[in-house]
Amino acid sequence: MLVRSVETCLEGSPALRPHAVGVAVAAQVDPRTGTVIHAPNLGWRDVPLARRVSEELGGVPVVVLNDARAATLAEWRFGAGRGSLDLFCMFLGTGVGGSAVVGGRLLEGGSHALGEVGHMTVVVGGRKCHCPNWGCLEAYVGGWAIAERAQEAVRADPEAGAALVARAGSARGITAQTVFQAYRAGDVLAGRLVRETERFLADGAVSIVNAFNPSLLVLGGGIVAGMPEFVPVVEAAIRARCQPPAAMARVLVASFGENAPLVGAAEAARASKSRGSPAGRA
Ligand SMILES: [Zn+2]
Repeated sequence: MLVRSVETCLEGSPALRPHAVGVAVAAQVDPRTGTVIHAPNLGWRDVPLARRVSEELGGVPVVVLNDARAATLAEWRFGAGRGSLDLFCMFLGTGVGGSAVVGGRLLEGGSHALGEVGHMTVVVGGRKCHCPNWGCLEAYVGGWAIAERAQEAVRADPEAGAALVARAGSARGITAQTVFQAYRAGDVLAGRLVRETERFLADGAVSIVNAFNPSLLVLGGGIVAGMPEFVPVVEAAIRARCQPPAAMARVLVASFGENAPLVGAAEAARASKSRGSPAGRA
């Protein structure tokens, strides 16, 4: 699919040949070799993705990077974080990911997994996460977790949950976006779920800003798009509760929406080519 999508792009502009191709993937990636080390949602381990895509595309250099890191690169170079030397980007979608730029460098970590703030523990012995841990931030504010919490609340109190079930067609059909829509329509249970979610989100954001001391916190992903009201709540929590020097961090919404990883992957490919880096070359 990946190779076909590149070929479709090339067919649309036959006069242009790419100098390099960038791939963003929801995985732990070794950016020097373009090997996917571990992609739990794809079930991949040690897949030489850059080499294989490059072979399929006739030897074009291919750069592979983690999707949250790619999205951060996009926001840093061209989006909400443009011009900043210290920022943290937090992406709230089905899962919760992030990445940090510190002193003008996009951080990687010892095993290319830095910034996994969705898996900070916010509740001791709390809800089981999709990772090996319990009580992770993602297990409360990730899209899957908001849906799961809502479905549990509806089963516990069917009368209060009637509007959510009616909107989704069934208890199992309730998603985070169902909760947000019901909240806007004034549903009491949805309102409670939104208030709980914003408390967990505020706790997480305060911890991130205390830990990384960014000048700017960029919030993106489908949860923020569906509930932009979370942004001022996060900003107020940072002002009131962070260590005073860190509490001045600005909070902005990401510029690129769901295309951020694509923009970041393209920028990583462009930068690798201009550096003459061997990253991902076949
Ligand atoms: Zn986790």
